[in-house]
Amino acid sequence: MANIYTLKDGIEDKSLLGNKGANLVTLTRLGHQVPPGFVLSLEAYRSFRQSRQLPGGEIDRALTILEESAGKKLGKGLSVSVRSSAPVSMPGMMDTVLNIDDKEAMLTAARQIFESWDNPRAIEYRSLHNIPPDLGTAAVVQAMVFGNLDQNSGTGVVFTRNPSTGEPGLFGEYLMQAQGEDLVSGEKTPTPIATLRQQMPGVYAELEEVAHNFEKHFHDMQDIEFTVEAGKLYILQTRSGKRSGPAAVKLAVDMVGEGLLSREEAILRVTPEDMKALLHKRLQSPEKAQELTRGLNASPGAASGIVVFDPAEAAETANNNVSVILVRPETSPDDIQGIAAAEGVVTSHGGMTSHAAIVARAMGKPCVCGAEELEVDVAAGQFKAGDKVVSKGDEITIDGTTGKVYLGILPVIEADFIPELGDLLAWADSIKRLGVKANVDTADGIIHIKRFGAEGVGLCRTERQFNAPEPLSVIREFILADTPQGKAKAIDKLRELQRRDFLALFKALDGLPIIIRLLDLPLHEFLPPKSMADSAKMKERITELEEVNPMLGHRGVRLGTTSPEIYQMQIEAIESAKAEVEADVSIMIPQVITAAELLPIKKLIKDKTIKFGTMMETVRACLEAEKLAEVVDFISFGTNDLTQAVYSFSREDAEKKFLNAYLEKGILEHNPFEVIDKEGVGSLMSTTIFRARTGWPMLDVGICGEHGGEPQSVKFFHGIGANYVSCSPFRVPA
Ligand code: PEP
Ligand code: MG
Repeated sequence: MANIYTLKDGIEDKSLLGNKGANLVTLTRLGHQVPPGFVLSLEAYRSFRQSRQLPGGEIDRALTILEESAGKKLGKGLSVSVRSSAPVSMPGMMDTVLNIDDKEAMLTAARQIFESWDNPRAIEYRSLHNIPPDLGTAAVVQAMVFGNLDQNSGTGVVFTRNPSTGEPGLFGEYLMQAQGEDLVSGEKTPTPIATLRQQMPGVYAELEEVAHNFEKHFHDMQDIEFTVEAGKLYILQTRSGKRSGPAAVKLAVDMVGEGLLSREEAILRVTPEDMKALLHKRLQSPEKAQELTRGLNASPGAASGIVVFDPAEAAETANNNVSVILVRPETSPDDIQGIAAAEGVVTSHGGMTSHAAIVARAMGKPCVCGAEELEVDVAAGQFKAGDKVVSKGDEITIDGTTGKVYLGILPVIEADFIPELGDLLAWADSIKRLGVKANVDTADGIIHIKRFGAEGVGLCRTERQFNAPEPLSVIREFILADTPQGKAKAIDKLRELQRRDFLALFKALDGLPIIIRLLDLPLHEFLPPKSMADSAKMKERITELEEVNPMLGHRGVRLGTTSPEIYQMQIEAIESAKAEVEADVSIMIPQVITAAELLPIKKLIKDKTIKFGTMMETVRACLEAEKLAEVVDFISFGTNDLTQAVYSFSREDAEKKFLNAYLEKGILEHNPFEVIDKEGVGSLMSTTIFRARTGWPMLDVGICGEHGGEPQSVKFFHGIGANYVSCSPFRVPA
């Protein structure tokens, strides 16, 4: 270990030369365009701390080498800078001294830099970021180069590829007769880098070569700062360049073709955030806009339109080619037409698994939920956000990726399905062990499955098929019928409607597998609110069906048990559609607690090619996993309800009432309805899989709750041995 290293002969060791010093050594090794310099190492820092002495003799020798490399003497055309170089990044915390023209001044500057390790700012920063106080800093002494020296001087920044599209070739800008600060301050308008090719062809060619070398070394797109002094190019810094989602995908795929990355590396380079940016519209510069409020980022993407409160009006307005944002306190199955017609949805109540969130996600529409600050007055046709009142017809923009709502129309960048994504997804498919299916309820949604490369439908929620006006009125007829004959008549109509739904789904699937979940919703969800009941009978029936806690009440298999004709009707409809078109079909039962609920339903299935499974979304089902596994061909975790059950947190209410406080106080690290709770819900799932596979080692295990589309959770599910996850189609590529 020595006290001083020149940039030419240094070691690329951050623990000895600090980040900046080690990087400059790397850059010097890769080319010859780095201004010459040397590093007072961390060893020198430690001696200085003890003795307050700098290694004078060594500095003299290093300075002589620096002067030789620069071809100039200090004070006679040569100035140097002294900068800190800590082994961890502490941006702007320590001192920098520029324009040093003599040696008494250079030594003073070096002392100042070493001492600035202990300035109050740096101490505060270290304690905030848990950086050990005795780590210390190196100091870099480097020849200064001047982009404002003469007509053949300038400064600029280039990316080695276009950071918004990923297209190859230098991308950036420069300013002649200027220093770095001029470029940053924005006072002068820089020139596109392409112009440099004519203006200084030699320098441009050199820059191209540098870009090529750096990419080859770092295996990534670089963002390079350079200065030209009297026609000679110097590289000041390089780092991995920030990029847009499309660029991340394109350049990762291109770099595989160029031999810079393996396919696995390319897949890992692209983050879930990049994918989101690629698949959804996004706002161009939201920081400049007036934020009205923020809620939960329930479904990604950006959309603008006029505010409409009534779903029917939303559908009508959208029909006239006017973009609409539907704003509601919350949504219900009655609102489906309005949601379908709107560009996006905002609700003041409801969480990540609320009706609006799930439906919007399934349709690929942006949605902001649980914006609790909003006071939505549907009757008055306005909402209040703080002291701002927004009325029907006013324009707003929502960003479902961040959960923010803005006043007015903001410029939006279109989503872009670039061809390279196909390659990347195909590579991911060939490597992955975890299958990816999509949650799709109707034939229209199948197109997205094909587009995003899912392997089939992992959850078809049949209650969604009753959202259309005709089935909704027939199921109401069933609920209101008070004679067996009346019920049977309604069931016959429903069977035919469902047969058509399934037939359309099977045709669209064209052989891809589908898991159909029989009805899960409590019946009252198909009826309007009591205040809107259009007959005394309906009002009476609504009162009869009322439950204190419907989500823990008469739904799913409990309804299938008390009204077996509903599941029987659905099974018959599936079988008759399947008799018409070949299809790979599984039937799944929701809300199960015991095998005894499953057995009578299984008996109703005549077609033995149909697979039979259960959702695992009650704690009791998980505890009975061995017994359930004996009855079924597969199990699928409904992690939305299972999280609700394990936490005893209502999935409808937790997010609007107290979950934020839990997150703010750090009691919970994540919203458990968003990111799977590994210790609680996750450990129950892991035990369940173990127990279920004890007798049936090949049992197929899926996940179909919203967590199936959340990257951290998916990683966890893979680890505990799930065969597939199923999520909304728009989350599939991520
Ligand atoms: C679940 O509970 O995770 C699930 C997929 O079912 P749903 O959200 O329809 O209750
Ligand atoms: Mg459920």
